[in-house]
Amino acid sequence: MALQVELVSPEEVVLRTSASMVLVRTSDGDIAFQPGHVPFVGVLLPERVRIYSDDGDSQLIAVHSGFVEVAGDKVAILSDVAELAGDIDAERAAAAAERARAALAADPDDAEAAAALKRAEIRLAVAAGTAI
Ligand code: ATP
Repeated sequence: MALQVELVSPEEVVLRTSASMVLVRTSDGDIAFQPGHVPFVGVLLPERVRIYSDDGDSQLIAVHSGFVEVAGDKVAILSDVAELAGDIDAERAAAAAERARAALAADPDDAEAAAALKRAEIRLAVAAGTAI
């Protein structure tokens, strides 16, 4: 039995696929969901999500916020901001990272800049295929 994964934003279903395993980072820690996992609801931290298909291939998705719900063989990822690797503009993310680093250099307590840097680093890692 495979997992049925749905990544949903307020506007659309970003991805619908079957998977053998899904790796996420939640406020409870890193979790690997496989078929037969107990029901679960958690808060997603800004990170890469990795989805393994049955043939062992995997894909990375940049997920910047949201929730994950596991029920039966269904894994639902609900996120305001999520990007598949192919949708990421790496130059834009690199520019955003540079802006954020400059803001943090001026004010190390700039929480907004720290969050922007984290988003940019996740986007760059997903675009480059860097493993979680
Ligand atoms: P930027 O400063 O480049 O706008 P940001 O982190 O402030 O980056 P967000 O507010 O997180 O951007 O996202 C706004 C919208 O832009 C979202 O729809 C998000 O998916 C998209 N987006 C942001 N950066 C990128 C990127 N590098 N490639 C593709 N889409 C992006």
